[in-house]
Amino acid sequence: MFKEEIKKYLAEKDYSKINLKAVLFDMDGVLFDSMKNHSEAWNKAMSIYGMTLSKEEAYMHEGRTGASTINIVSIRERGKEATEEEIKEIYNTKSDIFNSLPKAEPMPGAFELLKQVKESGLTPVLVTGSGQLSLIDKLNHYYPGIFKKGLMVTAFDVKYGKPNPEPYLMGLKKAGISADEAIVVENAPLGVKAGVAAGIFTVAVNTGPIPDSALTDEGANVLFNSMKDFSEKWNILKEDIMNH
Ligand code: MG
Repeated sequence: MFKEEIKKYLAEKDYSKINLKAVLFDMDGVLFDSMKNHSEAWNKAMSIYGMTLSKEEAYMHEGRTGASTINIVSIRERGKEATEEEIKEIYNTKSDIFNSLPKAEPMPGAFELLKQVKESGLTPVLVTGSGQLSLIDKLNHYYPGIFKKGLMVTAFDVKYGKPNPEPYLMGLKKAGISADEAIVVENAPLGVKAGVAAGIFTVAVNTGPIPDSALTDEGANVLFNSMKDFSEKWNILKEDIMNH
């Protein structure tokens, strides 16, 4: 089912095979259904400051730092960058709105996939741009026994963030493996871009309102339309990778 995609990836990278050891998971929009809250908070916060950032556009910026998102919109809408003070204010407003929304639920199908990954003898690694302090507690609560603290890359670990390959390269480093020994699971165009730039076989899962082409255009190697879909086809993908 995925043999052609694997073959194409290996030819492009000049690898002989993917010697799969770890799966690098993005968090928002992959493990938690949190993107609709982020996009709503962005949309409302920017409108308070007289700027338009549609919910759909917010999905396209997912993974960027807050400052960079604010500046892109500010330059477009006002013809100038936001001041440092404005950035702070807008970002705090966005965070306040986000925190006032109902808590994001785990993504349907995510735990089923994580359990299968673990049962396959592979190491799950978290690679997120999020900087929530209690991340490991939240993960252990919803996904007990899956993630280890030393195998997480968060906002505190990186300088550039996605779409720079840095977070995924750091994930490989923390797991002690190379790009041909992992796969990336991402829902955001910029996250896919980061995974691809890190040289890793990148699985896109379209859990939002964006067109599939937004993910495939960034070089996603395989695309699923939900985490449930991915979890149901996990064994096929794993077998295709391992038997290539
Ligand atoms: Mg995401």
